[in-house]
Amino acid sequence: MRCPYCRHPDSRVVDSREADDGQLIRRRRSCPECGKRFTTVEEAVLAVVKRSGVTEPFSRTKIVTGVRKACQGRPVDEDSIALLAQKVEETVRAKGAAEVPSHDVGLAILGPLRDLDEVAYLRFASVYRSFESLSDFEREIETLRAAAAARLEGTAGAVVNAETRTK
Ligand SMILES: [Zn+2]
Repeated sequence: MRCPYCRHPDSRVVDSREADDGQLIRRRRSCPECGKRFTTVEEAVLAVVKRSGVTEPFSRTKIVTGVRKACQGRPVDEDSIALLAQKVEETVRAKGAAEVPSHDVGLAILGPLRDLDEVAYLRFASVYRSFESLSDFEREIETLRAAAAARLEGTAGAVVNAETRTK
């Protein structure tokens, strides 16, 4: 790595540290020419493979833009969108692959978006899954209703269990 101070073409690593849960490595380097120190960050490049076969670097900003569009006019704040994008990146990176299909990125967005806002979820899903008719929406809404009902039952069950335990 070239020294940013004197442009000497070589440098020596004096310290390496993992950051961001092992996703980054920060190296402290020392220039043998001028003696100054500087830091470099190393990160594995995660590529997204589009349907056309073209790859592009994974971009959290792109996820934020797409999700923000789906959330237009909905009571969803920027922080929640940023958090969702972070979650998506973690999910995608956890696969441990250097390249992921764009389809998988979309899939990783659907779950957390459904938890965030169901209308935004429907908008996103309709594009992502290329809904073609009202019945596609109806089917998806049915699934959402069933999931909501299951969650309600789950909560009620937990309350009953807690009551039985205290007796
Ligand atoms: Zn130097």
